[in-house]
Amino acid sequence: MKVIVARGSGFCFGVKRALEIVEKALREERGPFYTLGPLIHNPQVVEKLSQKGLKIIDNLKGIKEGTFIIRSHGLPRATIELARKKGLRIIDATCPYVKRAQERARELEAGGYQLVIVGDRDHPEVKSMASEKSIILQRPSQVEKIESYPRMGVVAQTTQSLENFKGVVKRLGKKAEELKVCATICSAVSRQQRSTRKLAKQADLVLIIGGRNSANTKRLFQISKGFTETHHIERLSEIDPSWLKNKKMVGISAGASTPKWLINEVAREVKGL
Ligand code: SF4
Repeated sequence: MKVIVARGSGFCFGVKRALEIVEKALREERGPFYTLGPLIHNPQVVEKLSQKGLKIIDNLKGIKEGTFIIRSHGLPRATIELARKKGLRIIDATCPYVKRAQERARELEAGGYQLVIVGDRDHPEVKSMASEKSIILQRPSQVEKIESYPRMGVVAQTTQSLENFKGVVKRLGKKAEELKVCATICSAVSRQQRSTRKLAKQADLVLIIGGRNSANTKRLFQISKGFTETHHIERLSEIDPSWLKNKKMVGISAGASTPKWLINEVAREVKGL
């Protein structure tokens, strides 16, 4: 059986950077250390960081001192402001690409455009970009339900697929006299989606490795599923040997928060089976 790992699988630039920032803080700064929600969407990595002292919290209630780390997905400005007012030391690990998307969103609203965000309204990154007035759309079909505005501006959650974003933009063109488009999709995500699509077209089976809460992993799964049998796994133990029966070529791809050691472990296991 041939096992091929999609090019570019594993930590993206933003995740690597966030981990480096946090590891350094854990070594050099004074604790306690907090993040609002997991630092990245990978349970194994989050577990290791918690052993080193990084605590995950749901809100800032009761937190009076320590170091507050803004994770790679970013946070709404009001939350950062609250942490500042509490006197917490703030370390910002927001990915620069997410930051760029946040800035574009704010510029559009400040410029008088009705902001539209293409993404998942429950995702922390979208929450970090949105204001009370923003419109959040997941699919092109949802454009029909919104009102028309003279000036509209649109940004994307960085993990969006280009096809979906283009579909929304095309329909928005009919809703606004002026439409400003900021294609804030991350190039690392687009590349990984392309290499996964290519692999799925050739393989008899594809395994997508990554956290169940990871938006970009879920998107890779959706893409691959359109071409071949695909399973989304978080851990090695989730592989069912019956999936591999009579398969000649197995592809492996992984979300941007999946560590290389886990990808290698899965590849070894599949070859062994
Ligand atoms: S996927 Fe892209 S936007 Fe998201 S953290 Fe990685 S580099 Fe940043």
